[in-house]
Amino acid sequence: MPLPSSTATPLLFEQGQPGRATPYVAATASARSFLPREMMRGDDLELPDLSELEMVRHFTRLSQKNFGIDLGFYPLGSCTMKHNPKVNDAAAALPGFRDLHPFTPDHLAQGALQVMWELERALSSLFGMAAFSLNPSAGAQAEFTALLIAKAYFKNRGDAGRTTVIVPDTAHGTNPASAAMVGYKVVSLKSKENGRVDPEEMRKAVGSDTAVCMMTNPNTLGLFEDEIATIAKIVHDVGGLMYYDGANANALMGITRPGDMGFDLMHLNTHKTFTIPHGGGGAGHGPVGVAAHLVDFLPSPMVVRDGPEGRTTDAHTFHLDFDRPRSIGSVRSFWSNFAHAVRALAYIYANGADGLRKVSQLAILNANYLRVKIAEFLTVPYNEICRHEFVASAQDLKRETGVRALDLAKGLLDSGYMAPTIYFPLIVPECLMVEPTETETKETLDAFVETLRSLVVSAKSEPETLFNAPQHTPVGRIDETRAARHPDLRWIPAQTGAR
Ligand SMILES: *Cc1c(COP(=O)(O)O)cnc(C)c1O
Repeated sequence: MPLPSSTATPLLFEQGQPGRATPYVAATASARSFLPREMMRGDDLELPDLSELEMVRHFTRLSQKNFGIDLGFYPLGSCTMKHNPKVNDAAAALPGFRDLHPFTPDHLAQGALQVMWELERALSSLFGMAAFSLNPSAGAQAEFTALLIAKAYFKNRGDAGRTTVIVPDTAHGTNPASAAMVGYKVVSLKSKENGRVDPEEMRKAVGSDTAVCMMTNPNTLGLFEDEIATIAKIVHDVGGLMYYDGANANALMGITRPGDMGFDLMHLNTHKTFTIPHGGGGAGHGPVGVAAHLVDFLPSPMVVRDGPEGRTTDAHTFHLDFDRPRSIGSVRSFWSNFAHAVRALAYIYANGADGLRKVSQLAILNANYLRVKIAEFLTVPYNEICRHEFVASAQDLKRETGVRALDLAKGLLDSGYMAPTIYFPLIVPECLMVEPTETETKETLDAFVETLRSLVVSAKSEPETLFNAPQHTPVGRIDETRAARHPDLRWIPAQTGAR
């Protein structure tokens, strides 16, 4: 899809005139001195000749074509787009961390091993698990890892008949996909009227073939599963395991713990709850936690601290433990997305236990504030106290005006906001899933509410403006089916001969 001409930016290779470049460093001279002749290119690189100022402007402009949390409010439900404190990046970029090779022997990498060990301990105590593996690099990969752990556990017990995984109909799409990838049959569970899992339905669904029940709590409607203890007991009584999808753990910290709710396995997305930048499919970090009976099966290696119990002192040392015969093995290269482990630990230490509880309390407060305000002009199907997010619906508005959730979302983009998640969870028609996070001010939330309110008002008077939105973004309304089926990802130079 070409950029609308009003906002088109010339591509870098189409700018520049010979002789404009700013020659600060003669880099080639030193390179020539040690590169073997046969490794050197014979002709010059076809690079655009630009001044530094032109370059800076070009990249600054490009950086703002993509909406990001550093530019504005990003209420994308089930994604926890909160502020990414820059101090976390500073910590991850400390030369001792940044320049460390993953094959550095343990005795020369004590600081890095201590970071991983302390993060593992902090997450275990925050979420009530016996141990965490920092190995997986995404939520989906962590689900996959946890299900492999469950499979290894049942195999080790000689319990071969467990072939099904139970997933409520509000679950994130990765849950059934991960279960299928591990070779399980997926049984979908219909939620009851109040948007929660029905213990009666669960009783009917479980049996001797149940391996795992995957749940999200608060669920993707932002509602707390208040019958979780009963549900966990039903699954445990038939010998199954309870899995907790903790991708969005922003409502829990310091308030309640999956371990205390009866979960045996869980994952976290530190790239959501623990402020690590995400989006655009970049590498994430999905630690997997387990209760005591599953620790042996966690990925290898684990970081172990040697020395007495209690606070870490100079008497302690750390090592990578590969001697774990029941482990499912590793699910990625090396030990972890280490820079993310540093960021997550920096965030935890910056807040402390009390600070993290306050994070969750404010996330819940902000979500409820928005829920009550937005319910003044849009339907909120489960209009009760929510946790970190809630779901509104444009179903009634669509009936009245033809304007859908998609059109409201595009209207928000035109007004300088990222849109909420739309059309998920699947059980709410025309849904908008709103997650403000604790890092936004009341003024920002108020301005967002008024913008959304005015879009609903204009839906009633002049719906065409919304059908044609967005008009002010670098890319206008696209044919989403065509964009998905025939993505145009190639750059073809306009004037130059460069490839
Ligand atoms: C984001 C999310 C996932 C998947 O995490 P990725 O890191 O994107 O793979 C799983 N479950 C829920 C509830 C999520 O919000």
